[in-house]
Amino acid sequence: MASLDQLYQEIILDHYKFPRNKVDLSHVSDDQLYENPSCGDTVKLEVIFDDGGRISSVGFDGHGCAISTASASLMSERLIGKTEDEARSLMEKFIKVMRAELDPEELEAWGDLAALGGVAQFPLRVKCATLPWNALKAVLDSKAE
Ligand code: ZN
Repeated sequence: MASLDQLYQEIILDHYKFPRNKVDLSHVSDDQLYENPSCGDTVKLEVIFDDGGRISSVGFDGHGCAISTASASLMSERLIGKTEDEARSLMEKFIKVMRAELDPEELEAWGDLAALGGVAQFPLRVKCATLPWNALKAVLDSKAE
């Protein structure tokens, strides 16, 4: 029987090899390119809301390691259909788990995203996992302006 760790590793590798919602965002300004210098990860994010105020599409672009790419891919899937407030609350919770301020079990109701819970134990990887979420925060903050 595969352990939970193995299952989580497989989910992360699958999202790294076959990222969901990875698109060409060359039309998005490089001012909106977010970087994690400690690993070399880069990400751009485009979040589109429908008329009802729910996220109808999320695209990301960039180059990153397995953890940052999987995090962006898993995040993009999770955000579809969410309101801005719901997206912010997911982001805040995810970042708290990564900072070990919340138990990783908090992510268990989030489906495949729970696979990233274990990253909190590896401080160098935390920046990889949170990069797309920090980009999300910047995108939502700029929308509010
Ligand atoms: Zn990385």
